[in-house]
Amino acid sequence: MRSKKSLLSGLALGAFAIMISTAPVYAAVTTFAKWPSRIQTMNVSLNSKHAAAWSEGAAKWRNASHFSLTTVVGSATKYYAYDVNDSGVDWDGIADYTVTNGIISNAQLRMNTYYTSTSKYTSAIKAAVTGHEIGHSLGLNHTSIVETTSIMHPYTFNSDGTRARALSPSPSDLAVVNSLYPLMNGLVQEGTNLKQKANGVYLHPSWAVHYKNEQQLAKAADLVVQGRVVAEAGSKYEEGEYHTYVTQVKVKVKQVMKGDPTKAGQQLRIAQMGGSDGRLNVFAEHTTYLQDDEEVVLFLRQSSDGTYKPLNEDDGVFIMRNGKFNNISSQKQLHF
Ligand SMILES: [Zn+2]
Repeated sequence: MRSKKSLLSGLALGAFAIMISTAPVYAAVTTFAKWPSRIQTMNVSLNSKHAAAWSEGAAKWRNASHFSLTTVVGSATKYYAYDVNDSGVDWDGIADYTVTNGIISNAQLRMNTYYTSTSKYTSAIKAAVTGHEIGHSLGLNHTSIVETTSIMHPYTFNSDGTRARALSPSPSDLAVVNSLYPLMNGLVQEGTNLKQKANGVYLHPSWAVHYKNEQQLAKAADLVVQGRVVAEAGSKYEEGEYHTYVTQVKVKVKQVMKGDPTKAGQQLRIAQMGGSDGRLNVFAEHTTYLQDDEEVVLFLRQSSDGTYKPLNEDDGVFIMRNGKFNNISSQKQLHF
């Protein structure tokens, strides 16, 4: 098995840190990968309850940008959309794609019916989630969380139930897609205008709920603990099902801030999205891996296998820096 080091060294390139400053910064969505052709067909599973939403989501891009994505019912896996029902994750949709030298060779997009079958997921909201995941599959990353006019906003709802994400791509989203896929030629050069990242599969979730502060995170968490990372515990995965790939560490609990007090002194197994099956590396957009010896505060959900996941991945992870706990990704200080 390929060591986790190779995954971590890929991550160490730093491309995963989303810096969020205190003042809103309006910036175009970033990208690092694209298809070799701007004309693609996405197959939607016959069993998907979201055929209309996938079709509408594709039209949001097809009708307004150079990327011509049509949807058909079928099961070809090069560009494939289907449903999962997973109560153990925080995402309502997720896309992954395989990138080699900046070029996307296949993409799989999923809607999580555990969330999308609830009444607050109106057809407009569902088409915004599919539009968001399709945006990822075109090669777009998330915008910063202040960018609520972008369909690439990371969250579907705020924790008060209001809508968080724009229903359609913004002019800025469309301009980025158009620069990736110029009209004058059907084929694009490998790596053109792209900051290259490691070859592998990239996972891009749409988070169902945005927890704006630690109080909202704590309310949603099963367990909130302070502790120390004491061991790496390897990757776990169902081969080829990239959204199931996780990387695990063990955290020794010093203090339980919410939840089962008997966890104090015990070791928890923490699973973070992405990992390696020894053949390829799966990277998760919103995940920064915990390292040995880090002092952490974690807002956790318990999974059915007894492991714990940080809420919305990096949103639920705070690490000690200079005596203070800061979010592992945004660096925002924890007030608890
Ligand atoms: Zn996303």
